[in-house]
This record gives sequence, structure tokens and C-alpha cells, in this order.
Amino acid sequence: MFKNIPFNRVEWVTCIFLGLTLLTSLTAVPWYLYNYGLDWFQFSLFTFYCIATGLSITLGYHRLFSHISFKAKWPVRLFVTLFGAAAFENSILNWCSDHRRHHKHVDHEDDPYNINNGFFYAHVGWLLFKLKAEPPLDNVADLRKDPLVVWQEKYVHLIAFVVGFIVPTALGYAWYGTWQGALGSFLLAGVLRTVCVQHATFFINSACHYVGNQPYSTKHSARDSWFMALFTFGEGYHNYHHEFQHDYRNGVKPWQFDPTKWTIWTLSKIGLTSNLREVSDAKILLAELTEARRRIQCGLEPYQQRPDLRASLSHGVQLTLDRLHEAQEELSNQYYQLDKNVRDRVELSKSKMNEWRRQIRATLEHLEQLPGVQPIAI
Ligand SMILES: [Zn+2]
Ligand SMILES: [Zn+2]
Repeated sequence: MFKNIPFNRVEWVTCIFLGLTLLTSLTAVPWYLYNYGLDWFQFSLFTFYCIATGLSITLGYHRLFSHISFKAKWPVRLFVTLFGAAAFENSILNWCSDHRRHHKHVDHEDDPYNINNGFFYAHVGWLLFKLKAEPPLDNVADLRKDPLVVWQEKYVHLIAFVVGFIVPTALGYAWYGTWQGALGSFLLAGVLRTVCVQHATFFINSACHYVGNQPYSTKHSARDSWFMALFTFGEGYHNYHHEFQHDYRNGVKPWQFDPTKWTIWTLSKIGLTSNLREVSDAKILLAELTEARRRIQCGLEPYQQRPDLRASLSHGVQLTLDRLHEAQEELSNQYYQLDKNVRDRVELSKSKMNEWRRQIRATLEHLEQLPGVQPIAI
């Protein structure tokens, strides 16, 4: 059973850390809760630490440092540098270097968490086994100019240990004045929180390339999933993110759950963030139109190649097929008009774009009624 495990490539420190924190969360945490219960202080500290370290990864490591999708003043940078380290996901330089390679080589061999190597590999396997030599950090030269990033690189493990474990334990002791209180804060805000935030991040590399729909592009495996967005601070809209990686938003639609976007936007209103980068609505719609046209083309192909198939369809499906042919033409016209507008930088009215979007949705719903066509949304 173990003969396929490359023991000479095992990252022992990572394995022991991930294994011990998981084991503690599954044994000592329930034991503590059973014996001492959960009061509002422990719950609040746990929640604060989840949000502070989780957002430091999504807002800081990811959207600020990896993609430079906005600018931030030093209080924000300092906060995400300290609490990002406390998420125990290595330094900003390491994290961003891996992440930039992930975008550049997505689904290919040089993608550090290539989903084609399997769900487990993309989730955590790539951290447990280093199958290839670590590539040099040659794609983060811009970040090396930031003294805060360089300082964090030097002391990242110490900062992680102090901010991630010592501070919550000390706060627990200060509040309760007992070792049980300190232990509870260590177990909940320290250990259990680390496991939750780490696996939420890992799910972006695994599940967000596995479950959900692909409204913007099927050129890569990334997917949009509202469900994944719920516990990844909005990073679940991963299909959009891979298509438009420099946009500070992942959930681009107003109703999509993206607390990282809301935080960046709110901080911009009090002057702590600026230069929020956004892709224009017309460009986004153009991507949606391109993808919808490709899907319709795939769905209609069997009927175009074999006209005799049509006779075997029920009357209802034949009507759907007629509607789809008409819609295909209409979407083509819209595509060329929009493409020209984008190139000429002509703004299109919001109501016109919403109308086109409604047509795309209705057409895709018709498409799903054809036999053999997979449902598009999860
Ligand atoms: Zn990805
Ligand atoms: Zn990214």
C-alpha cells in the first residue's frame, strides 16, 4: 500500500504540522468543548482570528500582493503581513510565487497545484510531497522592493508562531486568569482556526477547479461556485478570477457573496485602499457571450451533422431546436456588435447589457432541454 509513496520526497515538517493540527482539532478540541463548553469570549476570539487570517490571505496575499489588483496603505499592509503569516501558509514571497505560476501555467505541469494530478494533490498533496525541485522565486521581483515583505520573509515562522498561537493563548489567559481559559483560546483560535483557514484556502486550489460552472471560459479548469464562495471569503468565483485575474472582485455580480471585495471597497471609502482595478462590464459580457455561443455550437453540432436525427425528436424538442437556431444567430450579431464596441471603447447602456444577459440565460436554459446536454449550473 505504501510502496508508491515517494518517501525521499516527503516534506516532513509540513506533514507533521498539518497532521498534528488536524489530529488536535479532531481530539483535543471536542474534549475541551465537552468539558468546558463554549462561551462568547472563546467564540468571538475564534471568529475574529478566522476572519483576520482568512482575509489576510484572500485580500492580502492573493488580491493585493499576487495580483496587485489594488493599492493599500501601510496599516492594511502591516495587518495582512502579520495575520497572513499567522495563517501558516508560508511567506508572501513564497505564496505569491506559487500562485503566479498557477495562473501562468494553469492545468499544466508547471502549475504547482495542477488539478490534473488529482483532487488530493491539488488540495494538499503538493505540499506534502515535493516531486520536483523547488523553482526559484524569480517571478516576484516587484514584491522584493517592499521592505515589509522582505522583513516578513526573514521572520515568517516566528511571526506565525507568535501571532497565530502565542497571542490568542495570552489573550485567553488575560481574560480568564486560568490555564483552562488559555488552553481553550490556544485550541480554538489557535489550532482549530489554523486548520479551518488552511483547508478553506486549499479548497480554492482543489474544489474550485472541480465543482461549479464555467460562465466565462472553458479554456481552463477553474469554476464558479456560490457554495465554495461561502467559506472562502468570496474566492469561490474562480472561473471569473482566472479569466480576469487583475480585477479586485471575484464575485463580480452585485448579488454574489464576496466579502473580500466588500472589504477592499469599504477600505477605499476611508482612504486605506485605492486604484481598485475593474474589468469593464462590456468585456465581461463579451466573455459570457463567447462562452454561451461555444456551448450552443457544441449542443447543436450533432443535429447539424446528422439532419435525420431531428425526425426522432418529440415535437417539443423540435421547437426548442428551432428556437436555439434563431438564438444562435441573434447572439452572433450581439457578439460582433459588442466586440466592436469594446474595441472602439463605446459604452453600452446597462439596460441593453442586462437585456442581452437575460437572452443568454434563456438560450442556455433552452439548450439544457436538448437530449444529452449536461445541465450548466450546479
Ligand atoms: Zn486556480
Ligand atoms: Zn489568483
